[in-house]
Amino acid sequence: MIILAAILKSPSVKGFFGELGVRLALRKLSKEDFQTLHNITLSDGNKTSQIDHVVIGRTGIFVIETKNYQGWIFGSEHSAKWTQTIYKSKKRFQNPIHQNYGHIKMLQQFFPGYQHPMVSIVNFSSNSTLKNIDIKSSNVHVLQTSGLVRAILSYKEPLLTRQAVAAFADHLGKSNITDSKVKKQHVQTIKETQQKTKSRIAENICPKCSQPLVTRNGKHGTFKGCSSYPKCRYTA
Ligand SMILES: [Zn+2]
Repeated sequence: MIILAAILKSPSVKGFFGELGVRLALRKLSKEDFQTLHNITLSDGNKTSQIDHVVIGRTGIFVIETKNYQGWIFGSEHSAKWTQTIYKSKKRFQNPIHQNYGHIKMLQQFFPGYQHPMVSIVNFSSNSTLKNIDIKSSNVHVLQTSGLVRAILSYKEPLLTRQAVAAFADHLGKSNITDSKVKKQHVQTIKETQQKTKSRIAENICPKCSQPLVTRNGKHGTFKGCSSYPKCRYTA
């Protein structure tokens, strides 16, 4: 029992149940009008973003960041830090709206044809109490799981056709970086680099600086070295 209680209290398990709660809530959205994707990782080549949930509907694209926090939550739209208070202990954390804004910026790179603002939703689990959350923008929501679907359904104006919703969801699913894809890509890049190096050496071109390689005599016999030594110290 003690072990079970410890497991249930661990942050990763709490996170799992928080995520699950959001997934279950999102199931209430009609499958005909909404496509939901979970745990999406996107990369633009420089940065990587992990997005908890993306709902693509005829009425818009909703980007959801989940926070499984306890205690009282205080914050405002533009402040850098928010505060979590549990009894007398106070913790500061990064403004989750700013965090989600980064996710939206990343998503926009994948949907250049989407001309409407994406809706930012920060979803706190029911363990927390939202206090004085000051939001001015109409496309930003800070709420709890019980209010999630209502907030999404408050958008009534159709912006996308069903085909566009399906195409966007498909594109996002394909852009999602899964671990195996990252690994494959990584291995592929290493292989390509090794191959390039090999062929350049065979052509007597320095793989580091592209100057000719020359054969030199060393203590242990001949070797290929860069002709621009000592500027480049490459040896094959
Ligand atoms: Zn060189």
